Amino acid sequence: MPTSESDPHGPVPELYDLAVVGAGCAGLSGAVTAAELGLSVALLDASGQTGGQYYRHPAPALGAVRPEALHHDWSAFAELRRRQKACRVTRLARHHVWAVTREDGDLWAVHAVTGADGDGERSVRVRARALLLATGAYERQLPFPGWTLPGVVGAGGAQAMLKSGLVLPGRRIVVAGSGPLLLAVGSSLAAAGARVPAVVEASGYLRYARRPRALAANPRKLAEAAVHGAALLRHGVRVRTRSAVTAVHGRDRVEAVTVSRLDREWRPVQGTGRRIACDALAVGFGLVPQTELATGLGCAAHRTADGASALVLDPLQETSVPGVWAAGETGGAGGAQLAREEGEVAGLAIAARLTGRPALVRSGRMRELRRRRARMRAFADVMAAAHAPGDGWTRWLADDTDVCRCEEVTAGRIREAVAGLGARDARSVKLLTRAGMGWCQGRVCGAAVACLASGRGVAERRPLAVPVTLSSLAALDGAGADPGPPGP
Ligand SMILES: Cc1cc2nc3c(=O)[nH]c(=O)nc-3n(C[C@H](O)[C@H](O)[C@H](O)COP(=O)(O)OP(=O)(O)OC[C@H]3O[C@@H](n4cnc5c(N)ncnc54)[C@H](O)[C@@H]3O)c2cc1C
Repeated sequence: MPTSESDPHGPVPELYDLAVVGAGCAGLSGAVTAAELGLSVALLDASGQTGGQYYRHPAPALGAVRPEALHHDWSAFAELRRRQKACRVTRLARHHVWAVTREDGDLWAVHAVTGADGDGERSVRVRARALLLATGAYERQLPFPGWTLPGVVGAGGAQAMLKSGLVLPGRRIVVAGSGPLLLAVGSSLAAAGARVPAVVEASGYLRYARRPRALAANPRKLAEAAVHGAALLRHGVRVRTRSAVTAVHGRDRVEAVTVSRLDREWRPVQGTGRRIACDALAVGFGLVPQTELATGLGCAAHRTADGASALVLDPLQETSVPGVWAAGETGGAGGAQLAREEGEVAGLAIAARLTGRPALVRSGRMRELRRRRARMRAFADVMAAAHAPGDGWTRWLADDTDVCRCEEVTAGRIREAVAGLGARDARSVKLLTRAGMGWCQGRVCGAAVACLASGRGVAERRPLAVPVTLSSLAALDGAGADPGPPGP
């Protein structure tokens, strides 16, 4: 367990060869690869730790003796961190990047705030010749009656509580939603001592069998699923497929959930609801790429098989905007190993461009990485198609179910805006009802509101990637926007 992640290097220069946003598997791998090839690299992340979602680990103050016990493949992360400490990566931790802009002289300016956690917010601007966006993904939530009760948490959120805080959201936890993450979450919670009465998957696993070649080419993924499956079996956890939690019950917090069978379109089958007692529900419907910084620059996006929006990338991970690369979940959810390899492809490609060494992109290493990436992306496509939400999920909603929890906008008000007032997209619904205008800025309800408005679950574009104060915006003219010392 590391005791400190402080940066060993001196004051932060303002101009770098490469700015990397996101220090998860993809960003860390890209930053290290580029720095080892001689580039000066700034690595910014909103978190105080490197490792992103997958390698989230307890804060040193918690005194965890073996944080790796909660992870698969910890050695890959340990190796990346060892390499990071040995090269020219300036790590800017707790830096929340709210926008990226293009400046004169083919430079990119990364605008961040730091100190927002309590020390007084400060604006930071980092300029770079190239940009790697590795901002990962967030969980897709689909609302249902009772989902705002205390005790309902995201499935990935429950995993994050365990990995970073060593706490469980409850003692008896139902895990529900869709996607392979549910198996990982169910087995980790059970191994950590929770009773997990059921893992409830809205799709079935048989859809994977439609692409046998992609499955056969990714035996490691199958082995991972088998490990989680065996752990669930060992802990007596039942996996219910083609089912969903369609209501949560409780007075002040979760006391039980209703699980209903679903048809192919995810419509609940009448008369199949069964109550399961629990004190927490961990729920999530797959991952949505976090692409605001990229789309704000005009980078093209495409629709993935599960209806999310991901960046269009060329074989060397460059976006449609020259000089801007992306890696990991920003190009579609595909897992930690894929993110790491894509980060390396991007790091090599950026170094090749900036140092004038095209041989780097023709190297045997690059060929091998691209071959592996193609194989893993094919599996990611199968996974996305297998867990694509069916249109019938909106049948779970009662008219009085809150869809936008920040502004307390119900499904009934959104339906009225669509049927009665002619709203055809999430933006019009927002203007008519305030749905998506609250603290989370539509990150939680965006996909659901878009789906109710237009039948398409893609949330609208947001010009600012994170909440930011007016004084930080005012600092954009240059005053007060100097980079400070490296993060802790
Ligand atoms: C909540 C959650 C839990 C997950 N749990 C698991 C699991 O248990 N098992 C599993 O196999 N997979 C899990 N996944 C998926 C797995 O995390 C990814 O496959 C993998 O981490 C992808 O790596 P990445 O580098 O693309 O993104 P991430 O690891 O998500 O890294 C992205 C980084 O970007 C930073 N960032 C994003 N936006 C900004 C910004 N505006 N400013 C500054 N920094 C920013 C984030 O803080 C983060 O550190 C989870 C995903 C999520 C969202």
